[in-house]
This record gives sequence, C-alpha cells and structure tokens, in this order.
Amino acid sequence: MVLYRWQDQDAKRLVEAAGDDPADQDLALRVYTSRIIGQDPELVMHGGGNTSVKTRRKTLLGETIDVLHVKGSGWDLGTIEAPGLPGVQMQPLMALRSLGSLSDEDMVNVQRQNLIDSTGPNPSVETLLHAYLPHKFVDHTHATAMLALANLPDVEAVTKEIFGDRVALVPYIMPGFALAKAAADVYDANPDIEGMLLVNHGHFTFHEDGKKSYDLMIEHVNAVEAWFEKKLAANPATCVQLPALPMTPEQVLPTLRGLIGAANAEHTGNRDGAMPVMDVRNGPNIEVFMGRTDLDALSQRGVATPDHVIRTKGKPLVLTHADLAKGSDGIKAKLDGFISDYKAYFDRQVPRFDGQKTMLNPTPNLAWIPGLGLIGIGANAKAASIAADIGVQNLQVREWGEAAGGFFPIEEADLFDMEYWSLEQAKLGKGKPPKLTGSIVLVTGGAGAIGLATAKAFAKEGANIFLVDRDEDALAKALKQLGSGHGGVTCDLTAQGGATNAIDACLDRFGGLDILVSNAGAAWSGPMAEMSDETLRGSFELNFFSHHKLAQSAIKVMRDQGRGGQILLNVSKQAVNPGKGFGAYGLPKATSLFLVKQLALELGGEGIRVNGINADRIRSRLLTDDFIAERSNARGLDEASYMAGNLLQREVEAHHVGEAFVMLASSHRTTAHILTVDGGNIEASLR
Ligand SMILES: [Zn+2]
Repeated sequence: MVLYRWQDQDAKRLVEAAGDDPADQDLALRVYTSRIIGQDPELVMHGGGNTSVKTRRKTLLGETIDVLHVKGSGWDLGTIEAPGLPGVQMQPLMALRSLGSLSDEDMVNVQRQNLIDSTGPNPSVETLLHAYLPHKFVDHTHATAMLALANLPDVEAVTKEIFGDRVALVPYIMPGFALAKAAADVYDANPDIEGMLLVNHGHFTFHEDGKKSYDLMIEHVNAVEAWFEKKLAANPATCVQLPALPMTPEQVLPTLRGLIGAANAEHTGNRDGAMPVMDVRNGPNIEVFMGRTDLDALSQRGVATPDHVIRTKGKPLVLTHADLAKGSDGIKAKLDGFISDYKAYFDRQVPRFDGQKTMLNPTPNLAWIPGLGLIGIGANAKAASIAADIGVQNLQVREWGEAAGGFFPIEEADLFDMEYWSLEQAKLGKGKPPKLTGSIVLVTGGAGAIGLATAKAFAKEGANIFLVDRDEDALAKALKQLGSGHGGVTCDLTAQGGATNAIDACLDRFGGLDILVSNAGAAWSGPMAEMSDETLRGSFELNFFSHHKLAQSAIKVMRDQGRGGQILLNVSKQAVNPGKGFGAYGLPKATSLFLVKQLALELGGEGIRVNGINADRIRSRLLTDDFIAERSNARGLDEASYMAGNLLQREVEAHHVGEAFVMLASSHRTTAHILTVDGGNIEASLR
C-alpha cells in the first residue's frame, strides 16, 4: 500500500514561509504535495510524473493574469523547489486548443515564450494537458498499480469495476498537444470525474484543493493495488525452483559487460565510453519472478509507461541457465540476437522519419538472469541504477497484470516514437560525457589521503569508484565525500582471500573492473641488521603480496571482459632510493616496482597496461603530523621547509598523486612506466 504522507504542520510551514502573495502560497503548497508524491517510488521514479497549480499573478504593468506553474524539465518531484515549477501564462496556452495540430517544436517554443521568468526550465511536455484541465491542482503519476491497470487488455471494464464513473479513460496517444486535446475532450464529456487513467501511460487526479487532489491520488492507487492483490492471491504465477547457476555471478557480469562494451564500441566506432556500468538487484521477489515459466514471453512485451523506454529500452536481455551453460559463447549468442533484433526494429520503424534518426547503442539496458537477478545497465552508475529501479518496478507491474488478464503495453511503432522522440532524448542530457565515463576504478587504501584523492580525481573524469579500506568508519566517511554512484567494502587485503573478496565485491556492485589502483601500503622501519623475520614478512604481505594478489584477481576479470584494462601500483621512491631504517618498507616496494615491469611484459598483448607511481613525502596515514614534526626536527628544519625539500621546493600533496594516476590511466600508449610525484629528487629519478 502507498503510504499517506500528508502532514498538516509541514504543509502549513511551507505555505507560511512563502510570504504574503497568494500566488507564492499556492506554489508553496504545490511544492509540498509534489514532494510527498515524488518521495514515493510506488508513485513516480526518476523525473517521472508531473504536477501543476493554477494561480494569478500581477505583471509589471499591474495587470492580473492567469498563470500555470508546472513541473520543469530536469527536476525531480521528490526534491523539487519553487523554481522547478516555472510559471507559464495560461491565456496563450488556452488559445492553442483551437488548433488542429501543433508540432512539438512549436509547442516547446510557445511554452518557453510565455514563461513568467525567462530563465526558468522548459515546462513539462505534458504542460498543455495540465492547462486544459480546469482544476487548480493537477497531479500526474506513473504509479505501479495504475500502470498495471493501464496495461490490462480489459482496462475499461476493470476501471469501471473499481471506480464506477469517478475515473474516465483516455486512449493511448503520445504525450504532447494531441494527448492534451484528447484528455481535455474526455474531461469535457465527463465533468464530474475526479481522475483519469491514460491507457498504457499513467494516472491523473485533480481538485480545487491541493490536499484533496493528493488524497484522491493515494486513494485511487491503493484501491487499484488492493484489487490486484486479490487477483494475485487467486491466480498466482507458475514458478519453478531454479537450479544452481552454471557460471558464478562474478564470471557472468564481466563477460556480459565486456561483450556489451565491444558492441557499443563497434556501433560508435569509439572505444572510449563504450563500457557500461551495471547495477545488480536481487531478493525474494525478483527470484520468484525469474522462476516464472512464462518469463521469455513476458520479456517480449515492452515497457509499462512510454517514457521508461529511454532508460530501459523496450525489452530486457534474458540469459537463461541454458545460455550460461555454454559459457561466454552462450552469452554472446544471446546478446548478438538482442542486437540484431534491435537493429531490425530500428530498420522497420525509421523509414517513417525519412532517415532522420540515428540509431542509439543497440545493446540492452536491462538483463533478466534467473538465479542471478535483474541487472540495470547504463553509461554510468546513475543510468544503471535508474534502469534497475524501473526494471524492478516493471516486474511488479507485470506480476499484477498477468494475474488479472495480462500485461499488454504499447506496441512497437508507439514505442519507437517515444524512444526516438527528441523531447525524450533531451531528458538524458546533451554534451560530451567526461572522458572516463563508464570506467570502473577500484582503489585500495581508498579512505586514506592518497586513496581518496585518487578516487576523487577519477570521479571528476566521470569514473565510478569502488573503495577498499580496512577502516570501516573511515571508509564510510570517504564514500560520503565521494557522493552517490560509488561503492566500497571493508577488507583486510593481507587476510586469506582478502584480495579476491575485494574484487568480487566490486563486481557485485558494478559488474566489472577497468582500472585497479593498488594503493594500500604501510611503513615498517628499523635497521636491517636487527630486522625480525616477522616484521619483514608482515611488510611483504601488504607492500608486495597484496599488490600481486589484487593484480591476479583483476587480471581474471579483465580477461573475462576481453577489453584490456589497467593496473596501477602505488610504489614508492624507497624502491629506488633507500632511506636509512626503511629497509623493511623499501624491499617489498622494490619488488613491487619489478612487478609493474613483469606484469606489463606479460599482459601487454592483452591490452592490459601496468604502470606505477613513485611518490614521496605526502601527508597521509603513513606520514602523520607527529612523524613530520619528528623528522623535520631531526634535520633542523621547520615543517614547511621539510615538506618542500625537493627540486621544486613545493610540498607534494595527495591530490597531485591522484591526478598523476589519472594521467597514467589516460596515457593510452604507456605501459611499464614509473612516474615520479615527489617534487623532484635526483637520487630517486629513474631515467
Ligand atoms: Zn506521464
């Protein structure tokens, strides 16, 4: 059941804060109910749905005009603010209704021309529909239960059964002017209705009172949900218990990811940005759904509401046990089939547009893998997560629908019109994506100064980061600093299986790995003459063996992906320029430097580049403030001079190392290289 979220005191507080202008108060109430609608994923998701309020405002010349505040493009209802509901003059919009037709370009242009604030965002593509309904408050959602209802074959009879004459039906028409006119005609013919169901699309409620319109929204959705739950209890689906997967998820995901990356690169002719990021969802509901005996048939049906198509494409890729039993060949065969089906769909539909459309990547944005889960697939973690959220909602829509007559959404031509509609594609944003978009970067020691600075430097270039650190609290703080779209795991890399666990956790989160930054390290000190075996071995465990084990696990993933990859090691100037008392640190570091060269030699043929950085004297968990004070004292220097004790006479900071790692990652013809980031030190220089 959808939660009823209205709170009198919250609404009152927002309205009071809006000041004395009744129009601003109307808008504040509109912001409030928009948010409580938007906060419920069962009502709307990811920019879906829209709301409006009609009010009156004074122009500069003192004239009072009717204004429609309607959701602006790029805003999300759950977090909307007043500027996210731009005001549009009503009168010119109303005048348009007399036209027989109106192009999308003209519609967008008129809406922009009549903005009260010329800097406002583009009003929603459903603005005219809001304008043509006479009520002060209009709410539109794509609620899960309403989508199940809207895609039933006998939607009319069921709507009547649940609502009587309270809700009228609007036949499917693509959003825009024609839909607005059709909905307005339906309303004019049924002026007593309290809501409308847009077949194959979604739901509207409206009222003079903002709270009542919200109340109706929740009441309608819950009535429909209760109806479906009853049907589902009476007609449960036939499901089978799934046998164990023939491949592990940690094999399936990178294999699929690499194949999609290869297909994207072939389509665009560009290797950059070709690799997708994945978002894996599972759990009891998904598991049961994936066990349905009608899974294949259901996968061919389409999307629950048209604007989902730009996030998920029309159909998911289904990988069955039989496919996976054939290993990567089985996955490739299924993916090739998906791609050729998609191309055929494009070729069938595009002639209607005189070749004016360019094919999008022909690869899937959703995968159903019984026994593994539902996978959202996108150009970055955010796109993958949106696809997964919508994909999960769509399972519920299908489950309910199938229990009550069937899930029958819009057909191919309508789907294509929506997928390739310029106003829909505009929602995905324009411009060149950052250069590391789609890259998954794992950083060990990720919560330390250098690790986090490196993570930030990669994130700035569009990569999705997976942090590994031993310190749980520090990791949580570091992830918070990075923001959404990144992940991490607490892990001791020197423990048995630690490196494999870290890499597996990254695969479970993002589906693959492109760049390993093996950064974790710690300093052990003491003269070699008295060095205990235990201390030296302890240092080797972290400063050499963990690099090697991580590299081994990463190589396995990169081989499954088949798209090359990169291994970057944080070595140390100690590897070439020993300091007294730092033998236990320098020895494994020197070995790690050799490891860079050895791996580069052995992996070059597979397109895996291996490089390292020799950094020195950087404030971190190794070089603490106390330690710096002690060392500078011992040399008779003040702290600043000690930290700037290099050729450039400038302190080297963690972000310099992070930026250098990104530079190595972007140097496509560089491997077996050690880059120094030490401000210049002739004794430690390499060539
Ligand atoms: Zn809609």
